[in-house]
Amino acid sequence: MRKNIVAGNWKMNTTVQEGVALAKEIDAALAGVTPKCDVIIATPFTHLVSVVNAIDTNRIGVGAENCADKTEGAFTGEVSAKMVASTGAKYVILGHSERRAYYHETPEILKEKVLLALANGLTPIFCIGEVLEEREVGKHFEVVKAQVEGSLFNLSAEDFGKIILAYEPVWAIGTGKTATADQAEEIHAFIRKTIADKYGKEVAENTSILYGGSCKPSNAPELFAKPDVDGGLIGGAALKADSFMGIITAF
Ligand code: PEP
Repeated sequence: MRKNIVAGNWKMNTTVQEGVALAKEIDAALAGVTPKCDVIIATPFTHLVSVVNAIDTNRIGVGAENCADKTEGAFTGEVSAKMVASTGAKYVILGHSERRAYYHETPEILKEKVLLALANGLTPIFCIGEVLEEREVGKHFEVVKAQVEGSLFNLSAEDFGKIILAYEPVWAIGTGKTATADQAEEIHAFIRKTIADKYGKEVAENTSILYGGSCKPSNAPELFAKPDVDGGLIGGAALKADSFMGIITAF
């Protein structure tokens, strides 16, 4: 059966020292509870080795927030999936709306990144989601379907089974506006059906689909109670151990 997962996306926040301290705080808080979900933190590249070495990675999985769409070579400033894996990180967020919007990551580029992540043993946390104008005209279903098809439906069923999906309506990210639990459930169920139509019911039922967008301790219980919402990808509320723990313990 699919896993419940709460994953933090630190974005471009914290120094290495601050990040290590935050990771240790979360690790210590988790030592006292048995969470009903897997816990992941995705940190800036610079933090990965230090964070991996500072915590119990059986308790918290560590991930990067991006990786290159090329294997290696003359790509100044890029960080490859192989480099990410060599830090001890096990996950990589791909297709975040900020990467799509500010760094022009297309479905084709993301397809390459997914393949390289998988080839290097990383689990992609693949983000999809519509912008406000698309939701307002009722295009959100077709947008998320195209995002999944465009970057993931080239995969074999076996490889697709390694993907974690995160539905993140762009209008809810960092805005304080959350999708209602019913809105989240409606589109998560649609995403699962889209997967079932391509790969069959078993693969679809085993795929974890996280919700992201202004998720916090106060709204996480209602969101996570929905049958097709398997946890959250958390931005702002992942930057404080107590609010991140408040979301983890919502399960
Ligand atoms: C995110 O960026 O993945 C996210 C969900 O951010 P926030 O929780 O701050 O809306």
